Amino acid sequence: MLKITPYLGILVLIVSIGGLWFPALGYFLLLVFAALFLISPFRGRWFCGNLCPRGSLADFWIVKISKKNKIPKAFRSFWLRVPVFILLMGFMTYRIISVIGSLNIFDKIGMILVTMCIVTTAIAILLGSYFSPRAWCTFCPMGTAQRLLGGKRYALKIEKEKCITCKKCDKICPMQLEVHKGAPLPDCIKCGRCIEACPKDALHF
Ligand code: SF4
Ligand code: SF4
Ligand code: SF4
Repeated sequence: MLKITPYLGILVLIVSIGGLWFPALGYFLLLVFAALFLISPFRGRWFCGNLCPRGSLADFWIVKISKKNKIPKAFRSFWLRVPVFILLMGFMTYRIISVIGSLNIFDKIGMILVTMCIVTTAIAILLGSYFSPRAWCTFCPMGTAQRLLGGKRYALKIEKEKCITCKKCDKICPMQLEVHKGAPLPDCIKCGRCIEACPKDALHF
């Protein structure tokens, strides 16, 4: 995690609330999309664990109201992730196409992006408070896209001979991954928490 990571969550609130008056703030989402698409072919879901404002909101704000239950397995399934990706991206594209040629197109597209930010943030807060702070991140379309683009990159490795199976890594993982098993973790968000928690220094990127 970077030093600025804990403070990025405020950007979600600025775009979601401020965007209602200043739709241009919605274009911040394009910056987010560009960053994650540029980073993921080299570092997988690193953006999710280090630079995503909503990820930061989950880890440092939603966590305060979360019941911290187990994230349902179905959330991780591609049977859910692919339809959610197609639905959200398709709906956003449809809405943008439908305002092309109208007056104030800049503001209208900005408002579509703001609305998308509000809706997905509301879902993230609801799921995060009932299940676990990062529940939304298990099937967020942008997380799925990063996994598909670079799920094998910058992989977490475990030195099995050092591991004492204490499972401290599993307990601290915000994505609730089974880190101790040493299997590939394409949904690892490279936050590094498990590395810090491991008493045997058995985990490395
Ligand atoms: S999964 Fe989505 S909301 Fe979660 S950190 Fe990644 S891009 Fe952000
Ligand atoms: S925290 Fe380290 S020692 Fe404990 S189970 Fe994980 S990898 Fe093994
Ligand atoms: S496996 Fe480790 S680095 Fe990856 S998300 Fe979990 S805690 Fe973070």
